[in-house]
Amino acid sequence: MSLPIYLIGARGCGKTTVGRALSQALAYAFSDTDYFLQQTTQQTVAGIVAAEGWEGFRRRETQALIAVTAPSTVIATGGGMVLAEENCRFMREHGRVVYLKADPEVLASRLEAYPEEEQRPTLTGRPIADEMVEVLSQRDRLYQQAAHHVINAMQTPEQVVQTLLQTLSLARA
Ligand code: ADP
Ligand code: MG
Repeated sequence: MSLPIYLIGARGCGKTTVGRALSQALAYAFSDTDYFLQQTTQQTVAGIVAAEGWEGFRRRETQALIAVTAPSTVIATGGGMVLAEENCRFMREHGRVVYLKADPEVLASRLEAYPEEEQRPTLTGRPIADEMVEVLSQRDRLYQQAAHHVINAMQTPEQVVQTLLQTLSLARA
């Protein structure tokens, strides 16, 4: 049985993109907690937040994390997953946790290129570059603490996958 691999990091760091590619390389299943939430509630992240507030969203996010956890699965998590300590503990106990780390400017330029406004409510209502600096200043420490491994996410997705495979000592399936 192979432990699930949890990818954590700020939005835009590549959890979904890299996670999907990693799952293919390993012949693992792929799950995305944001996508799971949208499917099970039939609402976007923005819609859930509008209806139930961030608190309601966070509660559902914890439930989603537990629901998608399974052996031989790569799990892309929402950017705020580490805000609840119980989520961090759960991930560390059930699998291997990898932080895809990127500088705020890199994250901002990716999100500016593909805003996906519908799905990604801004947290502060401020310009995206400022927001990423602020979000990372609060969360970088949480990501570092939650992670078993920290990976440089400012490489091509293919390179990030290769680094992940080496770091996790997992042979290509
Ligand atoms: P997350 O799931 O962490 O929010 P995504 O995988 O949705 O991030 O990626 C956000 C955007 O950045 C997408 O447009 C994606 O194509 C792009 N992207 C992701 N990883 C990389 C990378 N390593 N290099 C360049 N662009 C990337
Ligand atoms: Mg994602």
